[in-house]
Amino acid sequence: MVKPEYTLSHKLNLKNIALVKTFWLICACVLLLMSVLVIPNANANTISLPEFKNGVVGKQVQYFQEPSGKLTLTQAKQYFATSIVKQGSSNSISLGIDVAPVWLKFTVNNSDIEAIKYRLAVETPWLDYIDTWLVRQGQIINHVHGGDGIAFEQRPMAYRYYAFETEFQPGITDVYLRIETKGPMAIPVKLSTIDEAINNDIASGYQYGVLYGIMLALALYNLVLFVFIRQKEYGLYSLYLLGFVLNSLSYTGQLHTIITPDFGPYFQDWVDIFLMITYSVAGLHFARALLATKEYAPRLDSFVLRTTLLIPAGMLAGFIFDQLFFSMILAFVLNTCFVVLFVIMGVKAYYAKKPFAVIFLFSSVTAAICITISTLAVAGFLVPYNAYTFKVIEVGMAFEAILLATILARQFRMAKLDKVIAETYARTDILTQLNNRRGFQDLTKPIWQNIVRNGRDASIVLVDIDFFKRFNDQYGHDIGDRVLKSVADSIISTCRKGDICARWGGEEFIVFLPETNEQQALVQAERIRVAIESLQINVIQVQLSLTASIGVAGSSDNLYGYEKLSLKSLEPLINQADRALYQAKNNGKNQVQAVS
Ligand code: GH3
Ligand code: MG
Ligand code: MG
Repeated sequence: MVKPEYTLSHKLNLKNIALVKTFWLICACVLLLMSVLVIPNANANTISLPEFKNGVVGKQVQYFQEPSGKLTLTQAKQYFATSIVKQGSSNSISLGIDVAPVWLKFTVNNSDIEAIKYRLAVETPWLDYIDTWLVRQGQIINHVHGGDGIAFEQRPMAYRYYAFETEFQPGITDVYLRIETKGPMAIPVKLSTIDEAINNDIASGYQYGVLYGIMLALALYNLVLFVFIRQKEYGLYSLYLLGFVLNSLSYTGQLHTIITPDFGPYFQDWVDIFLMITYSVAGLHFARALLATKEYAPRLDSFVLRTTLLIPAGMLAGFIFDQLFFSMILAFVLNTCFVVLFVIMGVKAYYAKKPFAVIFLFSSVTAAICITISTLAVAGFLVPYNAYTFKVIEVGMAFEAILLATILARQFRMAKLDKVIAETYARTDILTQLNNRRGFQDLTKPIWQNIVRNGRDASIVLVDIDFFKRFNDQYGHDIGDRVLKSVADSIISTCRKGDICARWGGEEFIVFLPETNEQQALVQAERIRVAIESLQINVIQVQLSLTASIGVAGSSDNLYGYEKLSLKSLEPLINQADRALYQAKNNGKNQVQAVS
């Protein structure tokens, strides 16, 4: 027996309880969600240890730039309570070149019961002065002074950029940094456990090893080519790569870990900017030589030349008068010119139909994009700064270096082919495609020596077209040329394999017949004469016919055989054939003669 009221109220109660439960559940979920989403936001400047292992802390950082005059830490703390403070919005805070010093602050909360050791680094090697203070409950517990403005040995760690290792005690530690530099103010603050820091160092060691390995191997190879071939492209390319490696070693701080003279606070900046222009100057001269811009773009060529002279000269003046900012701006201008001019030179070369222009253009545009990304990232403009955007310049440059090396390799091959072609041309008569005198001599010399050594037969046939001048005079030089070609073709077609034909002079041809005595050569000469006599050359309404006189000289058993002549060279035999030709002309032309 159940009372309805009770049942109802009971039901209502139960319903209420369920509603309340649901309400609380929803509230709990919202709170949980808020705790995930809102609480860290409310405390966005805190880094929680030990969960945080490795990373750039740009987004957790508050910062402001010193309005005027150098602040003490106590004064800076007061500024951090005002509204001039900004919240970091990217991994690296980038503010431009030669800007006012920057103060940064973030908080570390170690929820562990033990102190944990971390490495704090600012991964930009050219920052001049960096100070870090660790503050716990209002007390400074650590102050680390560094930056490339001080001697390498005095820096907190013997490292390529500002870094130090420190323990974070359980609880809250405030970290304050003050950074001052004349160069680009790019501040990637990195916090890593010691293990992670070492792993990062090893990884970047390999990455740079591969990059520099490729670049140096290419540089050395091309240097060797330059030493042997003496073509300046190879030397300039090699210099360009060496310049790039040195530049990279310098702006990544690696060079300064090896060369550590203390020439004052801005020594590293000066080295950086002069190495920075070495590769762009060498690169531009390399492009001038490779693309031969002077031939088809003389104004561009002289502009490039002047740029590479005037800007370094200006920088040198800046160095003499100790104007780092001025020289630095010039270096950036030159490097920007380098990127832009490379592309313009590629375009010009493309329109001038230069070989390799397309590959050159492709490689230079790719490199330009990579350089622009890195430069914008460092300058804090448009592109976020991270390990990829910082290193993409090197990837782009390596890519370009390899493509340019393939251009040089192909050019090397083409030069070899050109040489072969030039040599062939030097031995060939352009009009008739027969050997010229030089070709004839080169080819017959070894065969002649062999014939003399073994007492073998050989003969010379000398052909001269009769009244050739008339063809020129009556029909013009072009028709004269056609006659010459036809005669050359008919001589070739009557020759045997092993015979060597050549154009000896204007309308004179020569044939060297190895293993052929004078009697056999006379038969062969007659064949040539008949072939020429039967030539029909069509010129607009007329058919031209022609004849030739032929002189023959060769080995025979009689007194005039070649064995009686000087055996040193073919020359006496040719002279003898020439005398026979003279006889043929005197006897009425269109005949074969041997000296009798
Ligand atoms: P002959 O019967 O006595 O040999 O008289 P010829 O007219 O054949 O000989 P000559 O030596 O008086 O003239 C040769 C001409 O050949 C003179 C020159 O202008 C011409 N000649 C030489 N080389 C070339 C050439 O490459 N092309 C043309 N078209 N003519 C040439
Ligand atoms: Mg003649
Ligand atoms: Mg002649």
